[in-house]
Amino acid sequence: MDCIFCKIAAHDIPAKVVLETDQVIVIHDIAPKAKVHVLAIPKQHLVTFTDLTEDNKALLAELGLTIKQAVQQLGIAESGYKVIINNGHDGGQAVPHLHAHVLGGERVKGIT
Ligand code: 5GP
Ligand code: ZN
Repeated sequence: MDCIFCKIAAHDIPAKVVLETDQVIVIHDIAPKAKVHVLAIPKQHLVTFTDLTEDNKALLAELGLTIKQAVQQLGIAESGYKVIINNGHDGGQAVPHLHAHVLGGERVKGIT
């Protein structure tokens, strides 16, 4: 599969890894939009939320708990952060492999 995040999850292309579990890898974004900007990426190739099924419940729980671990490790758990998932064209998704942006380390602007 010619997917950049599948390749990063498989360590076929390099990334700055924050932490990794069986099902999720957290990496620093290559073009950070905040002082802290990491991506939590399920290793399974799903494109958007729309591709999730009943079988992905454990994966979603792990994604949430891995983000918690990452923000604690990065020292932004107390100061706060945004978790953003872009889905599809109107969601502004550029990489078609489900991933959560975690932004913090400063006051992060948003539209909501
Ligand atoms: P999207 O717009 O799909 O929600 O976000 C994709 C994000 O992936 C962008 O913030 C972009 O900077 C980041 N990104 C794209 N290619 C790479 C890469 O090869 N390595 C890393 N670490 N981040 C990437
Ligand atoms: Zn993929």
